[in-house]
Amino acid sequence: MSAVFEPRFCPACAAPLSMVELAEDGGPKARLRCTACHWTHWNNPTPVLAAIVEYRGQVLLARNAAWKHKAYALITGFMEAGETPQDGIAREIKEETNLDTLSLDLVGVYDFQRMNQVIIAYHAVADGEVKLSPELVDYRLYDLPALRCWPAGTGYALADWLRTRGIEPQFVEWQRPTEPVAVDRPA
Ligand SMILES: [Zn+2]
Repeated sequence: MSAVFEPRFCPACAAPLSMVELAEDGGPKARLRCTACHWTHWNNPTPVLAAIVEYRGQVLLARNAAWKHKAYALITGFMEAGETPQDGIAREIKEETNLDTLSLDLVGVYDFQRMNQVIIAYHAVADGEVKLSPELVDYRLYDLPALRCWPAGTGYALADWLRTRGIEPQFVEWQRPTEPVAVDRPA
């Protein structure tokens, strides 16, 4: 099961796409391809930026307005064309929390196949006055030992970062979803 968007028409010429088998370096592979101009939907994973925001010695987690569940999660966002990952995550932190990023270090790169994404996770030390964007409804500041990680991409990033601080991460279990597809879970 996948929540990933699949196009039906060619973005170049609007003709229908059809599934074809292509001979590729790694062997035959099924791809959506345009029946008219041969544009191919490669469906490569999309990079997503994430930040563990350290604010005055605590970690800031935020709750997205679009989420039905009550989870607090890392600050995340997509890269814009023409910016570096570091510029992109500093921009997302500013847009979503109003905080200025003072330093950034890479925690790691994590797979999130359910959404066909790759998560690039940073630890950001940030300061300023917290003002949330309308996208976020609430935030909480956590002492490091009080943080609970979640068993998905950014949760593993948080766990790896806690280990670098000498803290053995504690994981929470997701509640069983009551809806068929939980597309709004934090990465
Ligand atoms: Zn086409």
